[in-house]
Amino acid sequence: MYRTSTQEHVGDDRPAPLLSVVVPIFNEEEALPLTVQRLRPILDGLDVEYEVVGVDDGSTDATPQLMVALRREWPQLRIIRFRRNSGHQAALTAGLHNAFGEYVVSIDADLQDPPEKIPEMLKLARDGGCDIVYGVRSDRSTDAFFKRSTAAAYYWLMRRLVGKKMPSHAGDFRLLSRAAVDALKSLPENQPVYRLLVPWLGFTSATVYYEREERVAGTTKYPLSKMIRLGLDSVTNFSASPLRLATWLGMASFVVCLVLAVYTTFRYCLNDTVPGWSSLFIGMLFLGGVQLICLGLLGEYVGRIYSAVQSRPSYFIGYDSADTATEAPAGAGK
Ligand code: UDP
Ligand code: MG
Repeated sequence: MYRTSTQEHVGDDRPAPLLSVVVPIFNEEEALPLTVQRLRPILDGLDVEYEVVGVDDGSTDATPQLMVALRREWPQLRIIRFRRNSGHQAALTAGLHNAFGEYVVSIDADLQDPPEKIPEMLKLARDGGCDIVYGVRSDRSTDAFFKRSTAAAYYWLMRRLVGKKMPSHAGDFRLLSRAAVDALKSLPENQPVYRLLVPWLGFTSATVYYEREERVAGTTKYPLSKMIRLGLDSVTNFSASPLRLATWLGMASFVVCLVLAVYTTFRYCLNDTVPGWSSLFIGMLFLGGVQLICLGLLGEYVGRIYSAVQSRPSYFIGYDSADTATEAPAGAGK
């Protein structure tokens, strides 16, 4: 058990590790052994105290047992297990909130982000004194066309919402200093989207470029439904402009209606009226559509206000190998 400068005293007096590596893991039985194989020599070679916080996001395959077995060989691997799948960002939250390190790196479990960049990130942060080091994908040619184009649209939109300080194609591979982690922890966010929140904090930052590799094994754990959810969370977390869009749409339709009303009166005065079924029908459809869009947008925000008011935690930790208070599953050594 460690203790950090800002965390409560939770056990003995060992100093906090310099580095925590947070890895969100969901059904990664194929990729995990390969990831550990590549990650461990790099971290051992750093010659500093470190911990790897593996956050098992409610995996339903052999991942939990695999992690317990891996931990026996690698004591620096800490296991945090969720009771159920709560999503990538929730897993990141748990990792960040529970990491003990003075620097915290988050990295995917599928080796798409090269762990070889971690020493470079740490060096930049320690020598340059910056609080955040972004991993930016310089080349996404290994991603499928669909992923590439949706990612391009996502970053285009987000840069317009969050501002130019958000680096394009910086995903969740990044290093944060203890100060940045504590700042994130102090935010009351219910559904945090870290790739937007981190640049928004305004800490000094540096960038490391890397080529996005192919997923080492298994399939993506981000189906379209989760991508849409991340997109909606990102937009509504950071901007009320969709609500404003509803106002603009309403105004535009009002102007169109005004023009149509003048036109209709003009035709009426000329005694040139036709049954008018089509114009009525189109008008009705148009207004109905606009109203539904606006209602939907309002609903998105109301739904989020509702869940913020409920303020339910975004995850439940079933087991933490670093916390003696949680129950160890059968076969998990402390
Ligand atoms: N992940 C997670 N919970 C989820 C979905 C994904 O913890 O509900 C993890 C996953 O194990 C991986 C990372 O998040 O470590 C990124 O997921 P993935 O590689 O499947 O996404 P992609 O690279 O295809 O966008
Ligand atoms: Mg991936």
